[in-house]
Amino acid sequence: MMHYRVGLGQDLHRLVEGRPFVLAGLEIPASKGELAHSDGDVLAHAVCDALLGASGLGDIGQLYPPSDPKYKDADSMLLLGDVWNLVRKAGWHLVNLDAVIICEKPKILEYRDKIRANLATCLNVDIDQVFLKAKTNEGCDEIGRQGAVAANVVCLLN
Ligand code: MG
Repeated sequence: MMHYRVGLGQDLHRLVEGRPFVLAGLEIPASKGELAHSDGDVLAHAVCDALLGASGLGDIGQLYPPSDPKYKDADSMLLLGDVWNLVRKAGWHLVNLDAVIICEKPKILEYRDKIRANLATCLNVDIDQVFLKAKTNEGCDEIGRQGAVAANVVCLLN
């Protein structure tokens, strides 16, 4: 019998001036970027947690504590590669992964295929196994005031 597991990952980072805006390792031109101990790659972090949740192997805060100076300005796509190695070693394969980015600015959709390609390359899967949507928060709350960006990710493993 084939076993399937779903995973859910969510993340949010504040947006501040003087930081790069990074999604899945892609730096997107923007007036503000994610504030974080690491590079603040909100999408990479949410993907890590979705994969870890589906496989029951922990969560990103546990494996890569922000209190550890080793992860200062860490490249989160390297962490994602590391997470994926753990998950694969436990015997799991990716069926698909679906993500939603929520922010007012910058506009994300013109970068969709580059972001999908970055994730697919990191996970060594086909690009059609990875999808991405982007929404605004219609001006509501801190995301709507351009003060934060959030990512929601689900994945299916077998
Ligand atoms: Mg994060």
